[in-house]
Amino acid sequence: MTARSGRRPRGSLAATLAALVAVGCAVGGVGDGGPQEPAEPRPQQSRQASSPGPQTTRADGTTSVAEFKGDIEDAVDIAERYWAAQFQASGQRFSPVRRVVPYQRDGELSCGGQPLPRNNAVYCSQGDFIAYDVNWSVAAFRQVGDAFVFYLLGHEYAHGVQVRLGIRYSFTIQQELQADCMAGAYLGDSVRDGVLTLDKGDLDEFRDGLLAVGDDPDQPWFAEGSHGTAEQRTDSFFRGYRNGLDACDLS
Ligand SMILES: [Zn+2]
Repeated sequence: MTARSGRRPRGSLAATLAALVAVGCAVGGVGDGGPQEPAEPRPQQSRQASSPGPQTTRADGTTSVAEFKGDIEDAVDIAERYWAAQFQASGQRFSPVRRVVPYQRDGELSCGGQPLPRNNAVYCSQGDFIAYDVNWSVAAFRQVGDAFVFYLLGHEYAHGVQVRLGIRYSFTIQQELQADCMAGAYLGDSVRDGVLTLDKGDLDEFRDGLLAVGDDPDQPWFAEGSHGTAEQRTDSFFRGYRNGLDACDLS
């Protein structure tokens, strides 16, 4: 995936995925004060994550931390411009999510008084920031591909937009599937606008990433913290990706 500003395009990896941890999201709640969504790490991933072997390193070698950081910066930049344009089009003022911060250790950052666990990425409404475990995110970037970084950021950014729009569903899963749809719209529209260029394999990377972050099949859909099965998440994401925000029930 290449941003127009442009670093060089990359190949992609047909990733052999271990169960990636689920994207945790919205710790501290989308809307109300209290922390409401504990992360749902599947911690078996973390050890191999911090020292990926050759089987998890993409063959083209474009998986450095510097490249990861560049992709995060591009993803943030494109998200800000995308949402600013959407808000402007409907006559509303947009303020970007205040900060996007990496962390490395349990409890290094907290949201609304709740320490953020490793192996996660969240949007924290209290501080209006996105935080991500950098080791976990880099491992996912290496395992799934650069498209995952854009998806992850797009999903968390969407939670910030939900707060700005005052959208708050009764069930976590509704909030999460909408965020997947919005992430899809942000990416699909950016591709249609020529802001982003997909490389061969990027769509598969989205699918791989969404498969990896789906809930376990036995997770009740109404449970606190439910994000949706891999199939539900993939459906939502691609509905937004293909059709733009109209598919996401924002109004
Ligand atoms: Zn989420």
